[in-house]
Amino acid sequence: MAYKFIDNYREKGARKRLVDVLKKKGIEDEQVLQAINKVPRHYFFDETFWNQAYKDIAFPIGAGQTISQPYTVAYQSELLHISKGQKVLEIGTGCGYQTCVLLELGAEVYTIERQEALYQRTIQVLPYMGYRPHFYLGDGSKGIETHAPYDKIIVTAGAPTVPEVLLRQLRVGGMLVIPVGDEQEQKMVTILKVGDNDYEKVVLDTFRFVPLVGDQAW
Ligand code: SAM
Repeated sequence: MAYKFIDNYREKGARKRLVDVLKKKGIEDEQVLQAINKVPRHYFFDETFWNQAYKDIAFPIGAGQTISQPYTVAYQSELLHISKGQKVLEIGTGCGYQTCVLLELGAEVYTIERQEALYQRTIQVLPYMGYRPHFYLGDGSKGIETHAPYDKIIVTAGAPTVPEVLLRQLRVGGMLVIPVGDEQEQKMVTILKVGDNDYEKVVLDTFRFVPLVGDQAW
């Protein structure tokens, strides 16, 4: 894929219109909307497809994976309630679009991807764009024990159940946001860790993610 990094009035305008679409769909968090307005989503697309970059749709990014729909990225980001400096583990880097949004929200991001081709691409593209998360290649269904505990954990692939190990890697007061269901559709679930072995779970809307594949998943 040939990348081209030009962000001119046409793309900036399209991004503002995307923000308006997300507002109409119910995204209210101003910081999340501002973050979406800042990240040049077209940088993740070949120039041939720039006209698709600010539509509120998921799009194929190679290796059988997709860049998430902006609404989904905004929805999960809003649920996380990120404060500046919080330590966030993202499972499923993909192309790194959600990663950039988390960084714009002020998080320190640890992101893990199981597919080497996607990992290799993000370790080059994101720093070039000025985004510097901590990148990992491997099975994120087990979390990343060495850097735990996290303030927030976001899973961007559909899991059959909530991996226990991720709950253990949360700080008390921390939150996990994860889509849980079968391979066709999943419910977005938030789990707030209120004590060492005490959790509050909320089941929200239906989404459709690619599967979380790994030791603690499919
Ligand atoms: N967050 C991305 C974005 O902003 O567009 C989209 C992520 S894509 C929907 C889901 C990603 O999760 C895929 O790249 C897939 O390879 C990855 N994935 C699936 N199972 C995984 C696992 N066990 N560990 C790490 N990544 C995984």
